[in-house]
Amino acid sequence: MTTYRDLLQQVKSEIEEVDAAHAATRLGGDESPALIDIRERDEWEEGHIPGAVHVPRGFLESRIEQAVPDRDRPIVVYCAGGSRSAFAAKTLEELGYTDVTSLAGGFTEWKRSGFPFDLPRALDAAKRARYSRHILIPEVGEAGQLKLLDSRVLLLGAGGLGSPAGLYLAAAGVGKIGIIDPDVVDASNLQRQVLHSTDRLGEPKVLSAKQTLEGLNPDVEVIPYQERLDSDNVDRILADGWDVIVDGADNFPTRYLVNDASVWHGIPVVHGSIFRFHGQVTVFKPHEGPCYRCLFPQPPPPELAPSCAEGGVLGVLPGIIGSLQANEALKLLLGIGDPLVGRSLLFEALEGSFTEIKLRRDPGCPVCGENPTITGYIDYVEFCMGGAGGHTHAEVAS
Ligand SMILES: [Zn+2]
Repeated sequence: MTTYRDLLQQVKSEIEEVDAAHAATRLGGDESPALIDIRERDEWEEGHIPGAVHVPRGFLESRIEQAVPDRDRPIVVYCAGGSRSAFAAKTLEELGYTDVTSLAGGFTEWKRSGFPFDLPRALDAAKRARYSRHILIPEVGEAGQLKLLDSRVLLLGAGGLGSPAGLYLAAAGVGKIGIIDPDVVDASNLQRQVLHSTDRLGEPKVLSAKQTLEGLNPDVEVIPYQERLDSDNVDRILADGWDVIVDGADNFPTRYLVNDASVWHGIPVVHGSIFRFHGQVTVFKPHEGPCYRCLFPQPPPPELAPSCAEGGVLGVLPGIIGSLQANEALKLLLGIGDPLVGRSLLFEALEGSFTEIKLRRDPGCPVCGENPTITGYIDYVEFCMGGAGGHTHAEVAS
């Protein structure tokens, strides 16, 4: 009967071994061999030799051709202590690889000898489970998920648009979500603002949002700003560092303030607006596409605003537009796809139709143009503008 010890000894006699010092010299030099780490994932995550490719032993036969297509390229294979890699080296020789060596003493000996090693960032088991449907998409994958977990998104408003946007961004694992909203939860909000609930009536919306989003995903930290954005606090809040702003604001002063601040801070804004059955979404990416002032250089004078009554909105509409905003934000964070820069996507709920319109940068824009005339924050007086036809400029029901 052959014992494991006998078999290992026999295999070791049939393969080449290299000690850590020699391996380190070869790896640093010209014609560096392919370095294959055949340990399990949890071992790999606790550190590996720089430049190594991870091909777990269980997948060695099926994946080695992808990792090392050239069978004449030298390979150094290692495990934790040098035994599994001895068997792996034998397997690789049987597969036709002509120059295979096993690292004697494995990663343990490598570390003990004081050679450098990488501590990779990787998702732990709980995160791999939570984000498995992201990891399965090549355009996201583990690297993309790590990027999302490092990302910071600022939501303007915890209302109709901020609710779906916040929920999907939190579910997606966006690590930090700032929310600006001065208001408390009101009964009339609950028809569409799905972040909140009946038992939170009267609570600050930012705290209600924090409770919902952190309850959905403990990987997310929500930073609440229970204040109205104005020229006094905008720089302080933006200085907290944000990758993307999702604008679900429902008033002109905020809209213009955010536009100007985003141009000066260089932060893309995913803009959404809704009115009755109409919604639209676009991305204002500073200096790559138009900004809000390229389209509407100044707010209309208050006397031209036909109505200051609250605007109505079909409750599901912000769910659709806010979800589209989350989609644009995720694309910007991951650097994938074609964001809606210079394009506005219009949705008509009654028709059930989408229309896209082109938006152009204005070289004469007072903020992002060649000769800006607005260089400091302006606090406009709040007013609203209801009525049919005004919805491209008036978003009164966030
Ligand atoms: Zn502009």
